[in-house]
Amino acid sequence: MSAHLKTIGTASLRERVSKEEWQMRVDLAAAYQLAAIFKWTDLIYTHFSARVPGTEDFLLNPYGLMFDEITASSLVKVDWEGKIKDDPVGMGVNEAGFIIHSCMHRARPEINCVIHTHTRAAVAVSAMKCGLLPISQHAMRVQARMASDLGKKSKAMILRNHGVLALGETVREAFEIMYYLDCACQIQVDALAGGMHNVQLMSQEAAD
Ligand SMILES: [Zn+2]
Repeated sequence: MSAHLKTIGTASLRERVSKEEWQMRVDLAAAYQLAAIFKWTDLIYTHFSARVPGTEDFLLNPYGLMFDEITASSLVKVDWEGKIKDDPVGMGVNEAGFIIHSCMHRARPEINCVIHTHTRAAVAVSAMKCGLLPISQHAMRVQARMASDLGKKSKAMILRNHGVLALGETVREAFEIMYYLDCACQIQVDALAGGMHNVQLMSQEAAD
């Protein structure tokens, strides 16, 4: 547990933010905590962001905390450009890490949460020329929400040789999409261990 956390005034932060912001903080902190359990953290070098409802401000992880140390009252509030507006624990944010998030939030105003990961399976699939294959229920569930350029309705994307993105109107939605996307990547890596020639693709009918 970081010594920084001992200095957080939880009650005072809750009192000075809106009810809606507090709820978003609780939801996003829960996503970080679950990500630690699911091993999506890449130590600390990935980010989940959430919009403060009714504003153009965003919540991000304090730079340096492990994901299982992140709480509703330690999340940092930043503007579009990642400039800090409220930093309860004084640890700042990884500005470079927020760039991809600010692009998504700016392009898609209905999206309130962006989850970005570099898990081993996601990076492995991102490095495959074939992309995400329709070989599992998990993949079929995600592919309906996927587009190569994150068009107007897509909520999932593979970043070539880098990792994956899931978007949601709520933290819960983004988390659920990431869960299925990461499972689909893990299944693909496992299935391809036997060689591409041994993999059977699903039809849409079978998936339905
Ligand atoms: Zn990344």
